[in-house]
Amino acid sequence: MVPDQLREWHAAELQALNAQFAGRPPEDLLIWAAEQFSGCAALTCSFGGTAGMVLLDIVARHDLPIAIVFLDTDLLFPETYRLAEAAARHYGITVERRRPALSIVEQEARHGPALYDRDPDQCCGLRKVVPLAEALRPYDAWISGIRRDQTAQRASTELLQWSAKHGLLKLSPLATWSEREVWSYITAHAVPYNPLLDQGYPSLGCAPCTLPTGATDGRGGRWSGFAKTECGIHT
Ligand code: SF4
Repeated sequence: MVPDQLREWHAAELQALNAQFAGRPPEDLLIWAAEQFSGCAALTCSFGGTAGMVLLDIVARHDLPIAIVFLDTDLLFPETYRLAEAAARHYGITVERRRPALSIVEQEARHGPALYDRDPDQCCGLRKVVPLAEALRPYDAWISGIRRDQTAQRASTELLQWSAKHGLLKLSPLATWSEREVWSYITAHAVPYNPLLDQGYPSLGCAPCTLPTGATDGRGGRWSGFAKTECGIHT
């Protein structure tokens, strides 16, 4: 028999699991993932948005054997780097920091300056999409904080989905949560979060591609001037 960790999950199994975990708290799915994948599950946390911090808090509270992966594009806000360090100390966890193959200087030499202003899709590909694929290679399950109400592209997010792109199970324990529910959890559990979210940034990514809009939720302020709403790691 093929161990669960080495096989593809099929639609009927995922449908049953999605029904099993529907309406239940996210910790139930995270605890199940920790047991099912015994050390081969990874949570990606950007240290920008709040949802990743909620999941990180649950993982730490339950001391789950789930790796914490931080994709560092080398272009994040200083506040984001400081939160990553502070959260690691606060929870006593190790954060697996993954960076692109090319430094900013090397990228500029090869592709010209400020690629994000000319071709953000290529820049995201080099600095996010490829590094994520490499970071996920050792894992059998990928946990992320995306939610259905964030963008039209995320509206069909399931709690559990097979990711053909990465050949693993993708879990989105907060798929059905609202922005209000996320903030309620943050407040109730005194979860550390990025201070820029209190300074008019509704969503945080790389500094060159993120503007404050004054809104309190949504994905506004990202890639201003482009139709782009996703970096490509969730598409
Ligand atoms: S968000 Fe902007 S700077 Fe960051 S990888 Fe994408 S295009 Fe590049």
